[in-house]
Amino acid sequence: MDGDPKHLQADGLGCHAGADQLEAAARAAGKSDVLDQFAKDYPQGPHDKPQSMCPAFGSLRVGLRMRRVGTVLSGSACCVYGLTFVSHFYGARRSVGYVPFNSETLVTGKLFEDIRDAVHKMADPDRYDAIVVTNLCVPTASGVPLRLLPDEINGVRIVGIDVPGFGVPTHAEAKDVLAGAMLNYARQEIEAGPVQAPASGKSDRPTVTMLGEMFPADPMIIGQMLAPMGLAAGPVVPCREWRELYSALDCGAVAAIHPFYSAAMREFDQAGRPIVGSAPVGADGVAHWLSGIGDAFGLSAEKVATAQNAFVGATKAALSETRIDGTITLSGYEGSELLVARLLIESGANVPYVGTACHATEQSKWDRDWLEAHGCKVVARASLEDDLAAMEGVQPDLAIGTTPVVQHAKEHGIPGLYYTNLISARPLMGPAGAGSLAQVINAAIAGKDRLNKMTSFFEGVGTEDTAGVWEGDPNLRPDFRAQHQKKLDKQARAAKAQEMI
Ligand code: SF4
Repeated sequence: MDGDPKHLQADGLGCHAGADQLEAAARAAGKSDVLDQFAKDYPQGPHDKPQSMCPAFGSLRVGLRMRRVGTVLSGSACCVYGLTFVSHFYGARRSVGYVPFNSETLVTGKLFEDIRDAVHKMADPDRYDAIVVTNLCVPTASGVPLRLLPDEINGVRIVGIDVPGFGVPTHAEAKDVLAGAMLNYARQEIEAGPVQAPASGKSDRPTVTMLGEMFPADPMIIGQMLAPMGLAAGPVVPCREWRELYSALDCGAVAAIHPFYSAAMREFDQAGRPIVGSAPVGADGVAHWLSGIGDAFGLSAEKVATAQNAFVGATKAALSETRIDGTITLSGYEGSELLVARLLIESGANVPYVGTACHATEQSKWDRDWLEAHGCKVVARASLEDDLAAMEGVQPDLAIGTTPVVQHAKEHGIPGLYYTNLISARPLMGPAGAGSLAQVINAAIAGKDRLNKMTSFFEGVGTEDTAGVWEGDPNLRPDFRAQHQKKLDKQARAAKAQEMI
């Protein structure tokens, strides 16, 4: 396989192999500008490829959660099957459009025509404000030019994005790809003339737009903290409907609650909106964040102090009522890991390690510095290997992490909690967030004895391919394995030789 898109096959390459070839092909097919922008927005290394969910799930989910927005995927059938399956598993309750292809339609350009026909058929203004078309790995690598789609059809906006696994490292950052593309579209609409007013009316106070998906109560709590300063909480980006994008851009400042939204921040920057990093999580975080917001709006020290007096003390009081006693390692790919780690430390926990699959940004610097000053090692773009090594080295009372980390922890008798389902789905902000984690975490730590009993009960039943109850010894056949390995080595050598042609 060389870098020529003509040589791409419709299937057979993907996140499991061939990222270099796909990237070379995408560059040869004219996608260098997109990939260079990804490299700037989402710097890679050492973790440079998806180790979990397909990244496109992030942008797909953002589109599926918006009212009156249709989504169309263009990619290998196996990728689309997986993505739609997971979307429905998470309750999408909406159809995902798919334009299938084969090697011929891919290399002759017919796939692009099929996509164009599909959006023309779908573009019904009674049903949709916008249709999002996403190129997955193979169509991106073969240069399917979504930018050549019409900007709008019958008043329905058409937004085309490339979300390849070889350019966008995590599903969190893929949310930013779509949020950024939509903000860019909405910004140009605003520049061109009057746009729709927000459905809920315009706030009489200057607003703060919030970046990052949060627990539904968090924006309200942030609103309460802003009120004494004469400010109001604006929309949360990613938005839930198109016209919210206009009010998001119409803010006085942006709070980068999740700090990895590089493309979205670029749009706010171009709209002249100041950006405040970190988030009002924990007493120190509330104090720091409120003063950052005060600076962004040029407020007087007294106004900021009024808000701080009301909410720093309340957060401290809530923290003192719900303590966490134990050592915790924490890792995840949602982008809010540093905030959660700060809250755990302020709640009394010892947190020696935090790994996030997202990249470090200027907006997360204060969190990193705070954590490091409190004895915590912070690893951005952490790999699964980093997370497992930290857990094995620390032997914590609780490991919070992704599925493989939690599985590994439990196998070794260490209590584990899934970050995405159990931790990131709780309020974190201000006084309401202060006590929200303690109950679930203390219960998990207290489960250690039960876990030890289970581990010793299952001791000796084997692991991995020898797991289970055997009447005799497992039939291991190392000769089959060696033979199969030889085949794989031969294939790898042939692929290498092909590359050099
Ligand atoms: S689109 Fe997603 S699932 Fe498909 S090859 Fe790319 S990263 Fe893997």
